[in-house]
Formats: sequence, structure tokens, C-alpha cells
Amino acid sequence: MRRQRSLGWAATSAVILSLCVAALTGLHNSGIGVGWRSPTVALGLIACCIGAVGVIFLGLAYHRLVGTVMSIARQLSSASTGSESGLQSGSLLEMVSGLRSELDERAERIGQLETELKDLRLQSRLADRQKQHAEAIIYSLRDAVVVIDESDRLLMANEAAANLLDFDPSAACHQALAETVGQKHNEFVQLLQQSRQSGIEATRRELEFEQSDGPHTLDTIVSCVHEGDKVSGVVAILHDITREKEISQMKNDFVSHVSHELKTPLASITAYSEMLADGEADDEETRKEFYAIIQSQAQRLNRLIEDILNVSRIESGLIKVQKEPVSLAILIEHQMQMIKGFAEEKQITVTGQTPIIFDQVNADKDMISQVVVNLLSNAVKYTPAGGSVRIETQVDEVERLARVTVADTGVGIPADELDHVFDKFYRVGANNKQAKGTGLGLNLVKQIVEKVHGGRVFVTSEVGRGSTFGFELPLAAAVAAGAT
Ligand code: ADP
Repeated sequence: MRRQRSLGWAATSAVILSLCVAALTGLHNSGIGVGWRSPTVALGLIACCIGAVGVIFLGLAYHRLVGTVMSIARQLSSASTGSESGLQSGSLLEMVSGLRSELDERAERIGQLETELKDLRLQSRLADRQKQHAEAIIYSLRDAVVVIDESDRLLMANEAAANLLDFDPSAACHQALAETVGQKHNEFVQLLQQSRQSGIEATRRELEFEQSDGPHTLDTIVSCVHEGDKVSGVVAILHDITREKEISQMKNDFVSHVSHELKTPLASITAYSEMLADGEADDEETRKEFYAIIQSQAQRLNRLIEDILNVSRIESGLIKVQKEPVSLAILIEHQMQMIKGFAEEKQITVTGQTPIIFDQVNADKDMISQVVVNLLSNAVKYTPAGGSVRIETQVDEVERLARVTVADTGVGIPADELDHVFDKFYRVGANNKQAKGTGLGLNLVKQIVEKVHGGRVFVTSEVGRGSTFGFELPLAAAVAAGAT
């Protein structure tokens, strides 16, 4: 391009020069050389030269413009006809389209990943919630739960476990279990360690734990957590069966008591009837005595069986209740006469108060008679010879109820056992030698008074001085008023 431009300039200069020379030579030869020297002619010549130069410049500018247009046209055509530069831009296009499709793929993948991420976040939130839920369940369990890892370090323990084993759960996590719970729970720690080492699916054992209110028995189930062939941890669940054990013990005691109670009258009935049959009672008086013994033993047997049946009937709600207005004073007077023979045998005096007229309660007569007789017979049973028993009735007009109390000068009941004397089969250990029994009498009293008649039972006692048992029932008038 630069060479072409130089050639252009050289050609233009040559044309200008030749034009000037030609003009001057022509003028001179035509005889107007003088005129050449005149300013008009000179100016004309210069204007001619300038015009020629202008024409040449315009030509050059046009040539340059045409050149540029031509070069663009050539590039465009070469792009379409596949010349060298065309090839370059073609591969560029390929590259661009390749890049674009790759970008599209990546964008699609990013979209998929975003969706997967969202799913994962959702799943993780769900898993978190499930974990919290599971933890809340475990923490709210009344059973103690302890989880250890493969190195016997504490992974988790709920509040019940912390209370039972006496440690601070917030400071115990990931600490060695043996150190956390201390030497006093060594048996428990060893059970967990042995289970983990043996890898046995589940082990069950009853363990004793000393608590502030005495020893507790816990049914302990230890299960190994398997991950493949490896035991990765151990879970222990401890269920307090102290009460169940007590009840089971009571039932065993009850069966042995009842069988004994049943056997004793049966044995004497059998013995006396055999003697009668063998003609061992020679005189009428002896025979009468034997008959009386057989009769009283049969009554005792009957009472016992009735007690057992009544308790189960009331508990199952199958008992028939026939309520009617009953005068407590009259009923009590009657029962006092019934018990007097037994009391006299033990040299115990039984006294009552003058009957109160307006002490009627709406009650099942037979059932309330049973209540009174149970309280009176207990008072006589647990009072040593020479003691006394007093039964009283009071009417509380304000509360609209009748209150019956049976006070004795007997052996009394330790304070910590008072709450249990109305429990089924419960017998006060210290008083067992005083009298035989089934532990059913007071429970029957409570069931009849509270469950059947909507009343209340109560007891106060002092060891060595005596006890006062009693019950309250709504007055018949109060019941009738309430019903209207
Ligand atoms: P039991 O057949 O054993 O007498 P109860 O249910 O009537 O059963 O009484 C439960 C326990 O309460 C008795 O075993 C006895 O130890 C105690 N008890 C009941 N009444 C008296 C009393 N008046 N004085 C002392 N202890 C009593």
C-alpha cells in the first residue's frame, strides 16, 4: 500500500511538472513570451497547475476509498468461499458453538445439582427433625436409657438414667462410662462391657440400685448395636420393677396366707367332725362344744372366701349394690354384739356410744356392716389382752356427713407404713405375729367406702399406744338434697 501511494505521488508530480514545462514552452514558442512575464498569464498558469493537482488528489482519495471497499468485499467473499481467513473464522464459529453447547450442558447440570442440593437440604432438615423427635422421645421416657460407643464412652443418657446413676448428663458426654457413674455402679458398667465384647444381641438382667428411698430393682436389657460384623455400641434400657416385684411378692404372700387361712379352719372342721363320727365325744356337752367349733370355723372360712370374692367383685364392678337409708348407730350396735364374744376371749372391752337418731346414711347395709366388722375385728386382733376398743359415731351437720371411728389401745402402726395399710394384701411386718390375716380386710373397707359409697377412709396411729381407723359417709338427707 505504501509503495502504491509513493508511486501515485511520483506520477502526480511528474504530470504537474510536465504540464508547467509544456505551458511555458508553448507560450514562448508562440511569441507571446513577453506576455508570459505579465501577472495575468502567470496567475492563469498557476491556477491551471493547482486545478490539475486538485484533480489528481481527488483521484487518489477516490482510489483509496475504492481500495478499502474492495478489501472488505474480498474478506467477505473469502469468508463465504473458504479461503484461509475464512477457514479461521469458520473454526472460530465451531469453537463458539461448541462452547455454547458446553455452556448449555453445564447450565443444565447446575440446574440438576441445585435441585439435588435442595432435596438434600430438605432431607437433612427432615433428618434433623427426626433426630430431635427421637431424642425428645428418649429423653421423655421414664425408663432410663444409656448408650455407649465401642470404647465404652457415654454417647447418650436420658434424665431418668442420670437420676438413677447419679451423674450430670451435660458434663458426661463422650466420657468413659466407668468414670462417669463411679465404682458403686460397677455391676452395671461390667454388664455393658461384657455385652459389647460378647456381641450377643440382647442380654437381660435384674440389677439393684440404691436410691434415696431405698433399694430399687431394675429390669435391665442391654442390646448391641451392630455395624456390619462390628459392634459399634451398646444400648441399655432400665425399667424400674420395684413396685411390680412388691406386688408379685404380695401376691405370693397372699396365696400362702390364704391357703393357710383356708387350711386352718378346714383342718379343725375335719378334725372335729371326724371325732364326732368316731364317737369320741361321749357326752352331749362335748358334742355341743364340737358342733360350735365346727360352726365357727365354717363361718371363718366363709368370711375369708367372701372377702376374696368381694374384693374381686368390687374391682371388676360386678357387685350388686342395694342402697337404702341406714342408721349407722343401729348397725354399729348390732356388729358390736357380734364381735363381743371374740373380744371377751382376748379380754378386751368393746364400748360404744348412745345411739344418735339422725345419722342415717344412704348405703348398702350388708356392705357397711362388713366395713364395721372388719374395723372392729382388726382393733381386737391387734390389741393385746387387757386393752380396749371404742367405736363412735358423729354427725357433722356442716359437712353433711356421718363419721365413724374405731379406736383401740393396740400395738399401733409405724408412720411410714400408714399410707399402705389400705393397699391390697398389705400387712404390717411388725404386727404379723399379733394375728393371722390376708391383708384384704382394710382394702375391702376402702373399696366399699370410697368406690361404692363415695365416702372417705382415714387412719391415725402411734406405735405402742394404739390406732384409730374411721370412715365418713354422706348423710342420707345430703344425698337426697343433692339428687333433687
Ligand atoms: P389382715 O387380714 O392382715 O388383718 P387388713 O387389711 O385388715 O389385713 O390389715 C392390714 C394390716 O394393717 C394388718 O396386717 C395389720 O398389720 C395392720 N392393722 C390393721 N388394723 C390394725 C389395728 N387396729 N392396729 C394395728 N395394726 C392394724
